[in-house]
Amino acid sequence: MAQNQTAPGTQKISNYIMMIVVIVLVLSVVSIILAISVYLSGVSTSSHVVSSSQTGQDDLTAGFLLVIGLVALSMSMFTVSQSRRQAAEMKIEVPKVMTTIECKKCGTKTVREFQRGDYVYKDLDACPKCPDTKQVITAIYKDIKEKEKTYNV
Ligand SMILES: [Zn+2]
Repeated sequence: MAQNQTAPGTQKISNYIMMIVVIVLVLSVVSIILAISVYLSGVSTSSHVVSSSQTGQDDLTAGFLLVIGLVALSMSMFTVSQSRRQAAEMKIEVPKVMTTIECKKCGTKTVREFQRGDYVYKDLDACPKCPDTKQVITAIYKDIKEKEKTYNV
């Protein structure tokens, strides 16, 4: 339960990014459609008697809109891939909280994930080896990955 508390926050941020991406995506699609329509209208009018300078300007407008559309499209795609990668990295970075349980009599150590209500010196269920002795929580710590401590030489 405790690990899930950070999830809504990151979800909110990614929703923001997704909204911006969708807006940019729509704008890029609109500009590409405009570019195609301008290009097509330029083609259709060129079949009529229209000065060559007019069609040239239409081609320029169409090309300009197409470039804007493609740039916006690639930018939004890049943002999506980047935010996804970031979200994946965030998930890995969240360290697990571990609880060490020890039996005072036989010294059996058990490590399990932290559960709500755990605290050091809390009495737990009886030890499986010695039923008359209660197991005690001796340590609660964050399980930081060894990967972060290694250095590339
Ligand atoms: Zn024991």
